[in-house]
Amino acid sequence: MKLLDGKALRDRILAEIADEVKAMDAPPGLTVVQVGEDPASSVYIRNKLRACKKTGIRSGHVHLPEDTTQETLNGEIRRLSEDDSVHGILLQLPLPGHLDDVEATRQLDPAKDVDGFLPENLGRLMAGLPGPRPCTPAGILELVRESGISPSGKEVVVLGRSLIVGKPAGMLFLLKGQWGDATVTYCHSRTRDLPAVCRRADILVAAIGRPRFVTSDMISEGAVVIDVGINSIEDPTHPKGRRLVGDCDFDAMKDKVAAITPVPGGVGPMTIAMLMRNTLDAARARQGGKA
Ligand code: NDP
Repeated sequence: MKLLDGKALRDRILAEIADEVKAMDAPPGLTVVQVGEDPASSVYIRNKLRACKKTGIRSGHVHLPEDTTQETLNGEIRRLSEDDSVHGILLQLPLPGHLDDVEATRQLDPAKDVDGFLPENLGRLMAGLPGPRPCTPAGILELVRESGISPSGKEVVVLGRSLIVGKPAGMLFLLKGQWGDATVTYCHSRTRDLPAVCRRADILVAAIGRPRFVTSDMISEGAVVIDVGINSIEDPTHPKGRRLVGDCDFDAMKDKVAAITPVPGGVGPMTIAMLMRNTLDAARARQGGKA
């Protein structure tokens, strides 16, 4: 069994990006927009800003108060979209309940959409055109590449159809090219006989958010398992009384699979690495294209 170590791969990618940034005339700039004080968001943002520091990417953090109006948020995103020194803009979700993230991101220049979530960029993915790819799905593809097993012609089963993970991950595997060309099946809460579909998978991507839902009898011998789920469960033996587990029963399947990602330390770290890469690509496109 090969453990697909997302932390090690993230560190390698960040080091490569740092070298590329050093060679640029001006560093790329990423600005994170946060509204309110959601504690989980603050942790995610800290990690993103730390990755910026490691790579030499210039970071900005616009932190707006909880009672910010939609108009102010929209105006802030428009302002950043027009600022030539900012190449990537990330609106940290979730927003406070009175704000509409779809309306806010409509103000965002698609060239600066380093999350790759705007309909324009999802459309580019669908059409096989270049553009920022959603970070977690792009990280999944990198980890599969790391496993050395090409998806070409293989059965890829994706559990989950969210716009952030499942749907774009399946699209990436479907794209023509060396690291696509797979036969892709999507599963969701209405899928009939899920275990039977999962057992067809050469590569299984689990992104449903249910702790250890995928059991060992649901995968075939020698499958590659990419576990995207991050679930906090009670564990009295853990110093904090809780710990993180994935959507797959890692311990039960680790001797059956060809390769598997751990949780934590698999897909999670890759998401940030891909965010840095999208920011670098956005800056390059800006510097090489529009003056
Ligand atoms: P969503 O809740 O948006 O989507 C979950 C999907 O799983 C839905 O399509 C849902 O089906 C499907 N699903 C739920 N229960 C079942 C079931 N019993 N059987 C089959 N399908 C089911 O989640 P996300 O895609 O945002 O996230 C999924 C997981 O990945 C979460 O644990 C999240 O924390 C984690 N995550 C990790 C990231 C990382 O960087 N590692 C980044 C983003 C997310 P239906 O559509 O029918 O409701």
